[in-house]
Amino acid sequence: MPPAIDTRACAMSSASTDTVRPGGAGDALLRVDDLKVHFPLTRGVLFKRAVGMVKAVDGVSFAIGRGETLGLVGESGCGKSTTSLAVLRMQPVTAGRIVFEGRDITAQDHGSGTFRRRMQMVYQDPYGSLDPRMRVRDIVGEPLVVHRVTASRAAYDERVAALLATVGLLPAMAERYPHEFSGGQRQRIAIARALALEPSLVICDEPVSALDVSIQAQVINVLMELQQRLKLSYLFVAHDLAVVRHISHRVAVMYLGRIVETADRDTLFREPLHPYTQALLSAVPVADPAAEARRARQVVRGEVPSVMRPPSGCRFHPRCPQAMDVCRQQDPALTELGPGRAVACHLHGGAAAIAMREATSA
Ligand code: SF4
Repeated sequence: MPPAIDTRACAMSSASTDTVRPGGAGDALLRVDDLKVHFPLTRGVLFKRAVGMVKAVDGVSFAIGRGETLGLVGESGCGKSTTSLAVLRMQPVTAGRIVFEGRDITAQDHGSGTFRRRMQMVYQDPYGSLDPRMRVRDIVGEPLVVHRVTASRAAYDERVAALLATVGLLPAMAERYPHEFSGGQRQRIAIARALALEPSLVICDEPVSALDVSIQAQVINVLMELQQRLKLSYLFVAHDLAVVRHISHRVAVMYLGRIVETADRDTLFREPLHPYTQALLSAVPVADPAAEARRARQVVRGEVPSVMRPPSGCRFHPRCPQAMDVCRQQDPALTELGPGRAVACHLHGGAAAIAMREATSA
């Protein structure tokens, strides 16, 4: 049985993400290429006719290596959760390709797909994701029953006890119901259930946003320690940049259905290039009051445009303080600037971007 995790920890662990070596492009556990998830808008009751299209995810590409955490950040409605549901094959895909553990799973669905034991999800709300009528033993052990993993009741009980110990809960807690636990303990139960089938990838959709700050730290520590012990990969969807900075090896920033910047964590937080990323990071509070007082904050003005009618050219141009003429006309491609570093902005991309801007404004 693996050793129990110290449940008393209330500060974020000093366990560094640097000790896990991110997989390179050739070692990708998950590869997503040009993913699109569009929802048709219809009008009429008997005779429905298409009147538009909601492009919730519109050409998203990324890869996650073995033992790596990719943080996916952006405002509400930018397409983060839709992307994660599409990867999990719980959301139909309009176009693109999803390759997991070397197999193309784009045409599969989560209910019957051959990959589903190896890819699991931890949901945002630990109060809503656990059935209040089930004992913890049955919640954690349900995947074992569905997939007929354990041969006997004794083996089942032993496995459930080991899973609870893995997330720092006592085996005796298996007899209790979810309402008898705190929010952090419930999220540990959800993590134990996600680990039951020994996945290689866990998709964490805002897993701590419903918890108190001190409890958030405990759950993040559990996830990081499990990653080191079990060599898990995470797609970590969140809007809290402090949490993303702590747990991620690389970060992808989404805006209106697209990835606008991606880089390793330290590079992104030290030198954000995209004006939207710069504005997001400038809103993160600094612990030092003097530094916080000196800090210049960039405020993104205006509302997020509708994904039904995204702006022409760069989708961020109506809110961008550095918008140029070219930005209203040409959609900037996500351009690789170096290993693992890419940005979709006409301000970056070298001589070609400059020549294109000059040609457009001439
Ligand atoms: Fe701003 Fe233009 Fe860059 Fe878009 S392409 S982020 S509008 S500078």
